[in-house]
Amino acid sequence: QAKRQRRGQLVYSGDSDDSGPMRLRILQELHSGLEQGQMALHYQPKLDLVTGEVHAVEALVRWSHPERGLLYPDSFLTLAEDAGMMRRLNQAVLTEALDQAALWHRARRPLSVAVNLSPSSLVDADLPYELAAMLNQRGLPAEALEIEVTEEFLMSDHDRTREILTRLRDLGIRIAVDDFGTGYSSLAYLRELPVDDLKLDRSFVFPMAEDARAAALVFSTIELAHSLGLHMVAEGVEDQTTLTALAENGCDQAQGYFIARPLAASALDDWLATRER
Ligand code: C2E
Ligand code: CA
Ligand code: CA
Ligand code: CA
Repeated sequence: QAKRQRRGQLVYSGDSDDSGPMRLRILQELHSGLEQGQMALHYQPKLDLVTGEVHAVEALVRWSHPERGLLYPDSFLTLAEDAGMMRRLNQAVLTEALDQAALWHRARRPLSVAVNLSPSSLVDADLPYELAAMLNQRGLPAEALEIEVTEEFLMSDHDRTREILTRLRDLGIRIAVDDFGTGYSSLAYLRELPVDDLKLDRSFVFPMAEDARAAALVFSTIELAHSLGLHMVAEGVEDQTTLTALAENGCDQAQGYFIARPLAASALDDWLATRER
């Protein structure tokens, strides 16, 4: 109940009436927003800590609402999920992300784009076919796409999850475990799952600069991940001290406001061009 109320306020801030008519209105707006292509993607670079280059970005959805301006995913994802609109949202996100990836590839900037997929779309047995077709249509290699799934979800439905992830991975699509460290998985268990990258949750990364024990925890997690053949990506890097410490301790990639905020595609192009100069 409390959860419901919070959700309503996320879109209609200050307005606590989440029942009946108000909720219905948000849903209608979401519906027409999807129909009218109001979903936009921002892309946040993933910095390769070995080469200092950017070969990958994460796509993050925003709702460009005609009256309310730019809305962030935390304010509408739960609603979309509850209303059974996640499949359509994912479709819109994947289409946009792959169209953009194709533009980059044609411009000789072969960035890999990571897309966040909700648990509900990952139990869809058609997903691997659909993704393969979408990549094909655009002449994109499978490496152009990465899928991020939350650790929480990975732990929920083992057999089914493993099957779909395995098929995605057989296509050559990379799989990343998002928000790593916030769930209850063991690294040993993750080794058995078909995944490539671990994205260490920012709640571990953020305190590193100030807290030696937090840093020690991150460093030993990097080592463990490597010993199991997994890549480590740190998210939420907000200062130079943290970035340096991660690089010196073998972290593979980093993402965060200190490197770049999520940017519209054109702004990202400018950002990349400035770095190359
Ligand atoms: P996430 O996948 O963990 O994405 C990282 C979030 O942290 C993003 O928030 C990003 O803007 C933010 N972030 C990046 N660097 C920093 C930093 O240095 N400091 C801090 N404090 N935050 C940072 P955003 O864009 O609001 O997305 C929130 C969540 O919504 C995402 O968390 C993801 O779970 C979900 N999401 C975003 N886009 C999609 C999508 O297209 N589909 C689905 N199903 N979920 C999405
Ligand atoms: Ca993510
Ligand atoms: Ca994350
Ligand atoms: Ca998150």
